[in-house]
Amino acid sequence: MGKPLSFKDLLIPKIEAAQQKKPATSFTRPLMSAITPDQLSRMKELEKEFIKFCNTLRCPLCSAQLDGGVSAKAANLYCRANPDEYKVNYFKNDPIFYKRTVRINFNATQYEILTYHDGPDSKYKNFVSKLDLTIPRVDLRERAKVKVFELEGPCLPIKSETSEEMLLDKIKSFIVFS
Ligand SMILES: [Zn+2]
Repeated sequence: MGKPLSFKDLLIPKIEAAQQKKPATSFTRPLMSAITPDQLSRMKELEKEFIKFCNTLRCPLCSAQLDGGVSAKAANLYCRANPDEYKVNYFKNDPIFYKRTVRINFNATQYEILTYHDGPDSKYKNFVSKLDLTIPRVDLRERAKVKVFELEGPCLPIKSETSEEMLLDKIKSFIVFS
């Protein structure tokens, strides 16, 4: 049996080990008390501007106002007249959406147009798919979804179209000119 360790010798390695385990950054956001009154009033101003901006947005298909809400991190909005036809998601205080979902029906066919925008320098990613509305179960309909077109570049413009042919013509000309 060796020399018994003193109480101090037993404690120190444990404390060191605990300190090493501590992550390099133990906090990710400043405390509200660390924000100056000026910064706080600028944050409130930005928030007000963003809510005002959200209130000006309309559904591109039917021009109805958008419903939904602005949370601490994002605005999740949809067409008030037909929530299924238009949904749009913004990060708070950013006027460029990060996701837009449009659904247009022509008799038994539904076109789903998804557009993503990842960051300030990124391009838009557009995906157009066709769904068969004669399939009653949504999960089965989703599984049978057929991709019509995919393009990274500008944002595919959305307008109400009177026929499936017109929508497909618009998409074709978009591919040619972008
Ligand atoms: Zn609408």
